[in-house]
Amino acid sequence: MLTTAAARRAILGAMPAYGKESVTVAASNGKVLRQSVVAERDQPPFDRVMMDGIAISYADVENDTREFPIQATQAAGDKQTSIEAGKAIEVMTGASLPIGADCIVPVERISLCNNIATLEAGYEAKQNQFIHPRGSDHMKGTELLSSGKRVSSMDIAIINSCGLTDVDVSKSPRIRVISTGNELVAAGEPVGPHQIRMSNGPAVIAMLQQHGYNDCEHDHAVDELDLLREKIGGHLDNSDVLVLSGGVSMGKADYIPQVLGELGVEVVFHKISQRPGKPMWFGVGAKGQAVFALPGNPVSTLVCCRQYVIPALNAASGEREQPPEFASLAQAFTFKPQLTCFLPVRLISSVGGQLLAMPVHANTSGDFASLTGTDGYIELPLEEANFPAGTAAQLHRW
Ligand code: AMP
Ligand code: MG
Repeated sequence: MLTTAAARRAILGAMPAYGKESVTVAASNGKVLRQSVVAERDQPPFDRVMMDGIAISYADVENDTREFPIQATQAAGDKQTSIEAGKAIEVMTGASLPIGADCIVPVERISLCNNIATLEAGYEAKQNQFIHPRGSDHMKGTELLSSGKRVSSMDIAIINSCGLTDVDVSKSPRIRVISTGNELVAAGEPVGPHQIRMSNGPAVIAMLQQHGYNDCEHDHAVDELDLLREKIGGHLDNSDVLVLSGGVSMGKADYIPQVLGELGVEVVFHKISQRPGKPMWFGVGAKGQAVFALPGNPVSTLVCCRQYVIPALNAASGEREQPPEFASLAQAFTFKPQLTCFLPVRLISSVGGQLLAMPVHANTSGDFASLTGTDGYIELPLEEANFPAGTAAQLHRW
């Protein structure tokens, strides 16, 4: 049986590299950027006034001038004016500094009477105060974003500031999610006492979307060889990624590995030394499609999706690898089966600023309701069984 690390390596090694496409900046939110974004202009693009007030020449202050006739007003967006000796220009935050001015006195430090600004008694203005110099944030041509960055709202600001209307991002893979099982009934349909609600497929799709993968469709297939072959075969032809739930364990109706084999999907591995999610199966279709067959137990499905499917899509999309994150166990935990344990946790921050992970009790790996309110899960290595409070473990946020 593969270790979790070996399974991850095997998956990453089998993933293709997705191509790129040009999309509007708004549509790039949450996608992986595939170009660099370079500053269009110096930032700020002009010496920028930082306070509402008056712009004056510091030479006048040195000559003990305290009263300044207001020559003009220059608001943000107004063209630059030139200041005359001994005078002030009324300015607003965001205005460009008037030519010849090198000092801003905030409105709170002056009194205005008959169009003359008088500096507050005893107020000492300094040269260059409240001026945000041109290019002091960054210079024209500076690379602000590079390929491999997932676009955030902050990045949307940067891209717009560079004057771009479209950017290159990774193409969205076509992902088809198939829930298998005779017992499954979708919400909205009548459910018999012997049946259960189909919750995995919609949850997997929601997780994929949360991570920026929106081209997802869901289908349900019953546990019958011919029907499975037909349904899965159809989806395989029309997708880049298949995510299946259920039918990969040792039960009599667990046909998925057999059906995938018959459809020409080459098995990369079956089973990982972990809990939950041990029966997971992974293979590659004839056209390079990644096929993730996840166990149907809902906690297993979601953990396997987060642990293997999402990182695989991120890597194929060219996303830069994120540094691992760690949290400390908030209370002692024991786990004896000699499997890597993915333990759902709620995060709490301690007074000392340490990130603490509080294990959340789940009855079984079918107890999906226990996951609500969890932030993710921690990874406890298979070599150990006793994990004292304070043990540092890798954290995977949902
Ligand atoms: P399986 O992996 O097919 O043996 O399923 C394991 C358990 O998970 C069974 O109790 C199934 O009823 C349940 N299960 C499988 N698929 C789903 C699903 N899509 N939604 C909710 N529960 C499921
Ligand atoms: Mg099943």
